[in-house]
Amino acid sequence: MSNGKTKKVVKTIKVDLDKCHGCRACEVACAAFHSTPKYSVVNPARSRIRVYRDELNNVFLPVRAGSHTKAECDGRQTYIINERDYGECNFCNASCPSRDLFKEPDSGLPLRCDMCESDPPLDEPMCVKWCIVDALIYEEREEEVEEQEKEEELEKGLEILADEYGLDKILDVVARMVESKKE
Ligand code: SF4
Ligand code: SF4
Repeated sequence: MSNGKTKKVVKTIKVDLDKCHGCRACEVACAAFHSTPKYSVVNPARSRIRVYRDELNNVFLPVRAGSHTKAECDGRQTYIINERDYGECNFCNASCPSRDLFKEPDSGLPLRCDMCESDPPLDEPMCVKWCIVDALIYEEREEEVEEQEKEEELEKGLEILADEYGLDKILDVVARMVESKKE
């Protein structure tokens, strides 16, 4: 494009907390979809969505895996829900050095929600599809971005991972992903 801009589809999943009842079907669906071969194993430890559950107080909060972070944050925020305090780590979406959440159990590599990108594409992500009470709502919108922006985002993410885990490990995982996409 002559103006240096390109269209980018932004995919989002809204969470309606009033509807979530903590069934964890989203975790199961995500884990099954991302197993190799697809649907062969259901191991929620590999899920890119985890449901924080406080059954006694009926608090359920699905959190999708976000960015990998090298450093722990200070974790000083507190959320008050129905007059009860919750630490921010409960609801954080980072793959962080202080916990095992959002890391592959075998390799330790960070897990990140990929919106179930696949070929052919799904109508909607697996977690949304299997949330039968519609607590997860899928939306798409178009945004104009600089042409360079997408590539820079990708390069930056790869650099961080290569620094942390070494290029060989990253290439191994990419090779596995390529194989699973062929299935
Ligand atoms: S499937 Fe829906 S209702 Fe069940 S835990 Fe996930 S978000 Fe909540
Ligand atoms: S969108 Fe796909 S990858 Fe992301 S949490 Fe939902 S099922 Fe997992």
